[in-house]
Amino acid sequence: AGISPFLDPGPRTRPNSLALAHVSRDSIQPVYLQDASGTVDGYAEGAVINTRFGSFPHSTLLDKPWGSQIRASIVDTGSRGRKRKLDSSADGEASNNGAGSPTSEVTTTKDLRTAPSGFIHILPPTPEIWTTSLPHRTQVVYTPDYSYILHRIRARPGMKIIEAGAGSGSFTHASARAVYNGSPKHAHDAKGKVFSFEFNQDRYQKMRKEIEDHRLEGIVDITHRDVYKDGFLVHGESPEAECVFLDLPAPWKALPHLSRRKPTPSELSTGELDTLNTTESGWKSPLRADRTAHICTFSPCIEQVTKTIDVMRRLGWMEIEMVEVAHRRIIVSRERVGLNLPPGERGMNQTAANVEEAVGKLKEIEGRFKKFHGQTHDADANMDEDDDDETANHNKHSNGNGNGKSKGTSLKNGTDDSLSVKPWMAGRLAHRTDPELKTHTSYLVFAVLPQEWTEAQEMAAFEMWPCGK
Ligand code: SAM
Repeated sequence: AGISPFLDPGPRTRPNSLALAHVSRDSIQPVYLQDASGTVDGYAEGAVINTRFGSFPHSTLLDKPWGSQIRASIVDTGSRGRKRKLDSSADGEASNNGAGSPTSEVTTTKDLRTAPSGFIHILPPTPEIWTTSLPHRTQVVYTPDYSYILHRIRARPGMKIIEAGAGSGSFTHASARAVYNGSPKHAHDAKGKVFSFEFNQDRYQKMRKEIEDHRLEGIVDITHRDVYKDGFLVHGESPEAECVFLDLPAPWKALPHLSRRKPTPSELSTGELDTLNTTESGWKSPLRADRTAHICTFSPCIEQVTKTIDVMRRLGWMEIEMVEVAHRRIIVSRERVGLNLPPGERGMNQTAANVEEAVGKLKEIEGRFKKFHGQTHDADANMDEDDDDETANHNKHSNGNGNGKSKGTSLKNGTDDSLSVKPWMAGRLAHRTDPELKTHTSYLVFAVLPQEWTEAQEMAAFEMWPCGK
């Protein structure tokens, strides 16, 4: 119970709650932290995250301030004189911490002892990190797109959003946070809401479970539905939505259901009208009547865009505009000297092993350099400790930023003529575009449907103006 960790993670990690283990730049693993009581035979280190940088019993991850660095454990369970029991179902490989946490395992003492030592950071769940670590069931909407979409469809605290299809839930999590109004304390009573629709049975079930596990039930309402056929009412009632996001193969087939009144034969062809099985008098719009509705459709092909816009026009949607978000990340790095790495493995792509080897070489060069110049003191007393960090999983600091080790040294015009210059500070600054940046490039079509405007409202507005009298 309690509020979703996506909405309010609190200051520290908690048992039975989702956390994201940041293993390396390319690896973030979702994990439901378990306390000792939830583990096999009550052994404190029963549930363990195993990574190539070492093993991390959940007991070492609990009650830590978010963002903490956690060192890998060397656990001596043998000294208890009892042999650790393995999960019999999968010979020690089965996850014992629930869905969505594929990396937590019951492990053997031997595994822990032989694991290389490194560290991870334990991060609070956010929609952005979830998007990069979630189990993919479909193509997903990535942060550069959904941040822009949520802004354009005016998703704000307290608003109601219709979303279809739910897919892997990437957009769902971002929109849940956008409409959450921060109070009251339990998300169940929150006013803002995401009405999500998915017609694939398996994905629908997984989404339901995820929403429950992430304690988003009060904000996200998921319905198993083919929206082309059956529209967007929930239990026969209108969600009263102000914002709509359609990530569907054929958004134009869902649009007729979003009208304020039943579309007429002058607006839609017979085929298009076929799916609307309500009478005009029985028609309920899923949109809030007294507000302008904002929509975004997300389609990879221009043919889908033209069909969508054609139907939008006929149904009275206005201010139709298409946008493509082209996001690039520029990586600035220093070209390393003295490294015999193949070109493809230089810069940001260096593996931890390469970095370890490289730092070793650099230390050797530095030692020779100092010896040659008769230097006896070490300017960086804690450099060794820091370098241990470098040699573990955090290769990005050692090759990406180029700013983590400056410590009072300076590089004059790119040359290393100063005695205080560290060898790894030498080298030309270079920049390039990150080729691994994940964005699902699609065309975004935005439009608005003006609020309902009855004759009575027209009269009332007319009478408000002095010239109308
Ligand atoms: N936006 C999602 C995300 O960020 O994770 C990804 C959506 S995925 C690309 C499209 C989803 O729409 C699929 O899961 C598919 O099953 C669902 N879908 C397709 N046609 C549908 C329909 N007629 N009604 C409801 N869902 C539908």
